[in-house]
Amino acid sequence: MLVDYASYENATGLDWYALDPNLTLLLDRLLPDVEDRGFAEEHVARYGVLCGGPLARRAEVTDHHGPVLRRYDRWGQEVDVVEHHPGWLESKADLVRAGFTGLPYQAGRPVPAVLTASLAYLVCQAETAIYCGLGMTAGAADIVERYAPAEVRDDLLRRLTSPDPDEAWEGGMFLTERQGGSDVGANTTRAVPDGAEWRLHGEKHFCSNVDAEIFIVLARPDGAPDGGQGLATFIVPRSLPDGSANGFRIKRLKPKLGTTGVPTGEVSLEGARAWIARPPTPHGTADERPGRGLNTMMEMVNGSRFGVAVMGLGIHRRSFLEAAIYAARREQWGQRIDHYPLVRETLVDLLVTLEAAAALTFECAGATRGSIDEDEGRRLRRILVPLAKVRATRGAIGAASQALEVFGGNGYMEDWPMARQLRDAQCHTIWEGTENICCLDVRRAMRNDGAHEALLARVERALLGSDPAPVLAPAVDAVATTLGEAREAIAHLAGASNDLQLLHARRLTYLLADLAQGALLLDEATWSLTRDDARKAVVARRFAHIQLSVPRARGILDDDRTVLDLFEPLTRYGSIERAAAAAA
Ligand SMILES: Cc1cc2nc3c(=O)[nH]c(=O)nc-3n(C[C@H](O)[C@H](O)[C@H](O)COP(=O)(O)OP(=O)(O)OC[C@H]3O[C@@H](n4cnc5c(N)ncnc54)[C@H](O)[C@@H]3O)c2cc1C
Repeated sequence: MLVDYASYENATGLDWYALDPNLTLLLDRLLPDVEDRGFAEEHVARYGVLCGGPLARRAEVTDHHGPVLRRYDRWGQEVDVVEHHPGWLESKADLVRAGFTGLPYQAGRPVPAVLTASLAYLVCQAETAIYCGLGMTAGAADIVERYAPAEVRDDLLRRLTSPDPDEAWEGGMFLTERQGGSDVGANTTRAVPDGAEWRLHGEKHFCSNVDAEIFIVLARPDGAPDGGQGLATFIVPRSLPDGSANGFRIKRLKPKLGTTGVPTGEVSLEGARAWIARPPTPHGTADERPGRGLNTMMEMVNGSRFGVAVMGLGIHRRSFLEAAIYAARREQWGQRIDHYPLVRETLVDLLVTLEAAAALTFECAGATRGSIDEDEGRRLRRILVPLAKVRATRGAIGAASQALEVFGGNGYMEDWPMARQLRDAQCHTIWEGTENICCLDVRRAMRNDGAHEALLARVERALLGSDPAPVLAPAVDAVATTLGEAREAIAHLAGASNDLQLLHARRLTYLLADLAQGALLLDEATWSLTRDDARKAVVARRFAHIQLSVPRARGILDDDRTVLDLFEPLTRYGSIERAAAAAA
């Protein structure tokens, strides 16, 4: 049965998993083990209903009733309490109960990273703000599990992963200070030893989920060198065991453009009690090497950068779905607007770029699967994460903007769904490292880990394994040409001056993202062709057409009829026969 957009009012209240056959395809392909697949199905099916229903409904309300900081109680004592709309608390409780923060600890079996990504993708379609807080909770739990002192670890971990909303704690992460977000090494927060513990003093300028209970904080131990090398990572509870504040003051909540539900504050740390998050050495003693602290924090940042890529993906998907529904209902000049070629092209390209972004983002989660060995998988993931973050978050801003325009004037109104998506989307190119910083991270991954070699090898494997069907041939040719260009660009930049390398960092990142997406779509298309469906081959071909090859005269000379002739099966997820695909 094809998805029938005309039968819906809007996306809220629908089962978002059932409506997304591309998510089913990703799970089927990336989870070949039957038990893994069955386990995943149970969870995505539940989340599809939860996210499309209550979470989506409440997100519209909490966006207009954001958190408020109550600094003082009636006695004039400073309390720094953040008050939330009940809907926000209900949504968080629903997700905690559904295991969003604790599944790996509760499931009694390994939880595939692809499943974790799928659940986050569904949540982000409802609201990326709520994923921000709960995603950081999972990151904090990981740091606590690996690096917290033994005497507190079990208790903190139990709280951070609890499925009981009454006892569950949340996490946050404070790196950024007034003088430095990108230049983390400029941090001035001091850490002073206090017996086996530490006391932190400093100002943190962007603190999301600021009323969580446990924070992972960067600070410089007294006497440590300047720059990133001298920083250490600390675990900081917001309150002391007696419930009083742990030298922790929320100065204000920031007036944000979007992601309203999650409170982002400015925080003073005034002698906050902290535990150092220190990795053990192979000999079991604490690792005192300088710079290890920043490395520990960067492990969490890499995880959350991937999470921000998923936020972009979620907004992109929601944008497509809302636009497809609206265009199937709205009439102008006596017919549905999705019958007009320009609207069709917008919808098809929203979907094609979405599926390309999903291929890239989900490959981060499954990178080790198709790799020759563990090291190649690690290097592949190392470069795919910043590529996906750049591509999916930038893509989401464009997607939300385009989808908003499909709604005409209604799209610009706050009582329709697209305004919030556009406001929220703008956050994600900045969060967890701006686009520029992620482009520089791609460069670092290439220089330090040779991560591009793993990527190029992955692309070559996709080319070698691709189906020879004529429908896929233009995409195969375009990927092969782009691979050649990427090799040339990399070789050229290796001999270029430093400033030229920095100047081209974004261009190179975009080029590698295009290449990775094109290659991964070849893989997906080949997989689908073996199941007698050429729909994904058409997606790969269209992606190559709009993103990889630069058509002469903007493509006007090509007479490509894909958007016109295959609109229905593409956007409504019907299967396409090879002959029909080749003829379009
Ligand atoms: C809503 C929101 C919530 C946030 N929550 C948190 C949080 O919970 N915890 C936390 O630690 N941080 C948080 N942040 C901070 C965020 O991570 C930083 O804003 C971001 O990393 C950028 O740092 P900055 O704001 O200091 O900008 P700057 O570092 O001053 O950057 C300004 C501009 O300069 C560019 N730039 C800087 N250096 C370079 C370079 N070497 N080459 C090229 N371009 C460069 C940047 O790309 C950017 O465009 C949050 C931010 C927002 C907007």
